[in-house]
Amino acid sequence: MRNVDATRPLSDLSLAGRRGAVFPGSDVPDRPLEDLIPAKYRSKTLPPLPEVTEPDVVRHFVNLSTKNMCVDTHFYPLGSCTMKYNPKRHERVSRFAGLGDLHPYARPEDSQGLLQMMFEMQQMLGEIAGLPAVTLQPAAGAQGELTALLVAAAYFRDRGEERTKVLFPASAHGTNPASAALAGFECVQLNKSVNGFVDLEELREKLDDKAAVFMITNPNTLGLFEKNIAEISRLVHEAGALVYIDGANMNAILGITRPGDFGGDMMHYNVHKTFTGPHGAGGPGAGPIAVRPFLADYLPGPIVTQSADGRFGLETPARSIGRVRSFFGNVGILLRGYLYLRTLGPGGTKAVSETAVLNANYVMATLKDVFPVPHGDRCMHEFVASARSIKAERGVTAMDIAKRLLDYGYHAPTVYFPLVVQEALMIEPTETESKETLDAFAAALRKIVSESTETLKGAPHTSTISRPDEVAAGRNPVVCWGGACEPVPVGV
Ligand SMILES: *Cc1c(COP(=O)(O)O)cnc(C)c1O
Repeated sequence: MRNVDATRPLSDLSLAGRRGAVFPGSDVPDRPLEDLIPAKYRSKTLPPLPEVTEPDVVRHFVNLSTKNMCVDTHFYPLGSCTMKYNPKRHERVSRFAGLGDLHPYARPEDSQGLLQMMFEMQQMLGEIAGLPAVTLQPAAGAQGELTALLVAAAYFRDRGEERTKVLFPASAHGTNPASAALAGFECVQLNKSVNGFVDLEELREKLDDKAAVFMITNPNTLGLFEKNIAEISRLVHEAGALVYIDGANMNAILGITRPGDFGGDMMHYNVHKTFTGPHGAGGPGAGPIAVRPFLADYLPGPIVTQSADGRFGLETPARSIGRVRSFFGNVGILLRGYLYLRTLGPGGTKAVSETAVLNANYVMATLKDVFPVPHGDRCMHEFVASARSIKAERGVTAMDIAKRLLDYGYHAPTVYFPLVVQEALMIEPTETESKETLDAFAAALRKIVSESTETLKGAPHTSTISRPDEVAAGRNPVVCWGGACEPVPVGV
């Protein structure tokens, strides 16, 4: 029997001349290779592809795929990422030939069905946001942020206002300042907080006539609804700036309240989070943005439109900032989100958020005596517990606990984010988990704190690799192929 250790490269199994499939000889005369591919396009040497059987390849990749945890194999309470279950009917329907095989260059008259769905998706997103103008173009939340900030920049440029600053609280997701910097703004961070909420005094001080946008996540990254959001919006508007709502936490408020109603001028969705696009490891995603009508003219196109005769078409707004992605967005993910919203209907959408909030509060209440939650007695869809006292007593960190959870068959929560909580464990159960799963997860965490420090420091004990150097892996990745390893240049 051959070793099927999936962590070994496939090239280890290679045997010269071995083939995955052998076809009968062709009964048409061979054309010289030169006719098919001119010499200038051909490399001198063949790539060193492994010569293996088909079962070798299938086993290698199927086994490799089981080395990671995913929503289909494990409970995945990764805070802020909304790792809810992705219904399989979305996968089936989005692969229907008329959808999955449709060419992005198909003429609008030949793709009316898909365009209608994308048109309705724009409308539903506009309605849920309370911000009616929507573009489906951005391919992720982060790209939605960047797009909205470029829209804001174009708007102020048109008004002849020189506004150079983007403000955000210290609890903001790292993509907020990154998008602001990329869009050419100066980043201004609010460092204080009042019990996890924006400090209105500090906001007043930092808002001036150079402020363009205040970016705020609501519910915030502590899983709390910013109770002063109306006042925050009023202050920002009074200073002549715009309010940007980071919509990554929409799973808590669907059908209950709307960013447009509490003062937001622009927002992004993470369709892959809130509306069940399967996601992880950086993709795929969809980050549509919704804005107030006075910003609609700057949105990237094409946007799906409907004419008086009911036909659907594609149009780009007159003062558009230009495209931010090819075609009209990451249609595969948008379709799954559309199917999800259509399945639920307005009442079901609201029930999603109510159950997500209930589940998070249930887990929080079950664990609070062992893992205190520094901010808030009640949470929205997620909560941020602290392992600070456990660290002070025994030197066991949030990372040790997260790693040990892997041995118990749970994906770890988000750790060390937001930075305002020491030894943070950010837990987001989502609405798709049963009470039994939540109970078992809480029991595992309780069991873990009763284990020896040595066991926890060495965890995980059951995974293929234990504790990679995450910073080095991110900053200096090394790829290996056929026994040779090469560092990959990263960054710009
Ligand atoms: C996930 C997330 C983002 C970024 O979204 P991507 O789709 O991953 O680019 C921004 N803000 C918050 C609060 C998030 O959780």
